[in-house]
Amino acid sequence: MAARQHPVLDTPPLAQWGLGLAEPLLIAGPCSAESEDQIMTTARALAKDGRARIFRAGLWKPRTRPGQFEGAGNAGLNWLRRVKEETGLLTATEVATPQHAEACLNAGIDVLWIGARTTPNPFSVQAIADAIQGVDIPVLVKNPINPDLQLWIGALERLHRSGIMKLAAVHRGFSWFERTPYRNSPMWEFPIRLKAAHPGLALLCDPSHISGVTDGIGSVAQRALDLGFDGLMVEVHHDPGVARSDADQQLTPEAYHTLLEQLIFRTAAPTADMHDQLEELRDLIDQLDEEIAQKLGSRMDIAERIGDHKRAHNVAIMQPERWERIMQRQLRLAEHLGLSPDFVREFMDAIHRESIRRQTGIPEDMEAKGSLSYPQIGPKG
Ligand code: PEP
Ligand code: MN
Repeated sequence: MAARQHPVLDTPPLAQWGLGLAEPLLIAGPCSAESEDQIMTTARALAKDGRARIFRAGLWKPRTRPGQFEGAGNAGLNWLRRVKEETGLLTATEVATPQHAEACLNAGIDVLWIGARTTPNPFSVQAIADAIQGVDIPVLVKNPINPDLQLWIGALERLHRSGIMKLAAVHRGFSWFERTPYRNSPMWEFPIRLKAAHPGLALLCDPSHISGVTDGIGSVAQRALDLGFDGLMVEVHHDPGVARSDADQQLTPEAYHTLLEQLIFRTAAPTADMHDQLEELRDLIDQLDEEIAQKLGSRMDIAERIGDHKRAHNVAIMQPERWERIMQRQLRLAEHLGLSPDFVREFMDAIHRESIRRQTGIPEDMEAKGSLSYPQIGPKG
């Protein structure tokens, strides 16, 4: 068999990172380091709760527009050092340039992460990978801001090739052009596909950046735990109302405590043997099948409403041009996702038939007897 060009990443599980970490790994702390007081107050509260093992705080903040708070920078390194000395929490921060990475190594930061705006840039990721080549430091890689699995994997591979073995991926949702109930759409299929391609890679979820508001954090976090994620990174600020970045999505230490009380953590930690991996992958398939069924259900409900609307306005149920556009869009998407066009055509045709049946209100058994047939629409290739 030909050698795989992109081998499965062999990364040690969290428990073997030599940091005393266990699953689920809980990382918590403010979006940005703002002042020594803010950092110490938040860290002390988290240490008192005792469940988060790693304290996160952004020192260099990538802001969409200039003129906003861009982080405390190097000054914050000393605050994080103090957190570690006084509370025993491990520390983590975002690095976007080789200079950031070097400053963190010199300051004894325990864990680095690459942010969603840096992961998509292979030059930046490579420059960071070169700066920390061969250093025994864990790096967390957030998904790229755009839904592109290959960029996410590519960033992990660049670090791995630099000898960084202690790697984890962080799912923080994707920017999407349509309105969704999230700040960043979770598109769970991406982390699931990442896990399927690299089963040993630790996978964490950042429900704060997915949700964008404190209310949604619990359900996103629970979903991640149900999908077998290995831990959570949550934004916690001692006084979110005055936070200088991401104020809407930061929990107080008390609310974080309540969140952890309410979440249902899986009791048995999966071991690394083949059988468990197979079970884990089957669980993921079951979850995805459920999601597909739910989405199909919603799609048919909406189709029925469109049917009512068309009837009320005397419009034909069949709209071949509209269907042609839908099919073309799906075929483009399919190509991007590596799905075969024949499969997508057949699948979409079946959806279309059911959708028209629901719009016309024809009972299922009539269709089964072959009393109706629908033309196959869309290009055949
Ligand atoms: C952050 O963690 O505060 C952050 C900037 O996240 P992301 O890179 O996921 O947007
Ligand atoms: Mn943030």
